[in-house]
Amino acid sequence: MIIRIRIRSRASGATFVHPMDPAPRTAVLARGFRGSKQVRVFAQGWDSQAARFQPASIAAPFDELVRLAKLDLRLEHSVIVFTYEGQPGLSYDDRELLWRAFGVPVFEQRLGPKNELLAMECEAHSGLHVVHGFSGARLESDVCACGNRSPRLPRGPRVEELVELLA
Ligand SMILES: [Zn+2]
Repeated sequence: MIIRIRIRSRASGATFVHPMDPAPRTAVLARGFRGSKQVRVFAQGWDSQAARFQPASIAAPFDELVRLAKLDLRLEHSVIVFTYEGQPGLSYDDRELLWRAFGVPVFEQRLGPKNELLAMECEAHSGLHVVHGFSGARLESDVCACGNRSPRLPRGPRVEELVELLA
């Protein structure tokens, strides 16, 4: 008797972590992520399929969100902005632009080269909670208004500085 063992190909891509739990219907407009029940990945960016999905929340790199700002999209929940190693964090003006375009809260997430989550903004919007355990002089370690005790990076520093801190 031949027993066949099917090895399911491991789903590739990083896990997207929505700042709110449970996550609303979210469209991730970037390569290298895997989806889940409420999260669909549109690696090509915003297109008719993504529009049909009718997300309440969109997660994408800043440039893609700026492109979408020209469309008249109505989101119910939030936008999540990916900033990457080698890029500056979101500026006040960036946030203002996104707020005016979408009218929903903006959450920044810092990603490493393989889309691994390094730090994420919480609902209290008072910095980015670092995901990996480490300590650094520049981290704020008082308990956040959101209740999460993990230390926070102040908003705005460049990702290289974060990677330095993680090293
Ligand atoms: Zn917090």
